[in-house]
Amino acid sequence: MSDPLNIHRVGIGTDLHRTQAGRALILGGVTIDSPFGLAGHSDADVVLHAVIDALLGAAAQPDIGELFPDTDPQWMDADSRRLLAPVLARIGACGLRVVNVDITIHAERPKLSPHKERIRGSVAELLGLSVDRVGLKAKTGEGVDAVGRGEAIGCTAVAGLTFDVATTA
Ligand code: MG
Repeated sequence: MSDPLNIHRVGIGTDLHRTQAGRALILGGVTIDSPFGLAGHSDADVVLHAVIDALLGAAAQPDIGELFPDTDPQWMDADSRRLLAPVLARIGACGLRVVNVDITIHAERPKLSPHKERIRGSVAELLGLSVDRVGLKAKTGEGVDAVGRGEAIGCTAVAGLTFDVATTA
């Protein structure tokens, strides 16, 4: 990659799932103690879904819905952690590797502060990053929108990627 301006890439991903009683609440690969979970075809892990779209976006690759369609029965109730390896392989094939991710979870409840470090550690491990490269915030919806009314949990993620030195040389 000879273009000196084509060294770093940034991607953004967002996701939102409805809350649903009787489902497990899984955020960033971590099961959170909660009276409700999130509805979805897969395990509805909004954090990993947003992170994956951020990674794919930074590499200008197809989005998570194109790569893992919810019409495909193999992704029914799928553990979203399984999606990370093929996504990272795709990014690697583009000559890119992940530098950092920054994540904001939008949830009125449950209170996420007791779980943030576990979620950070899980995302870091899944991406092969040290935890100091994973930012994590939790925000409420101030009671005003679907998140605020507790009807949904959302996530926004940004990923920074860089071309491998061997590729950029
Ligand atoms: Mg999703």
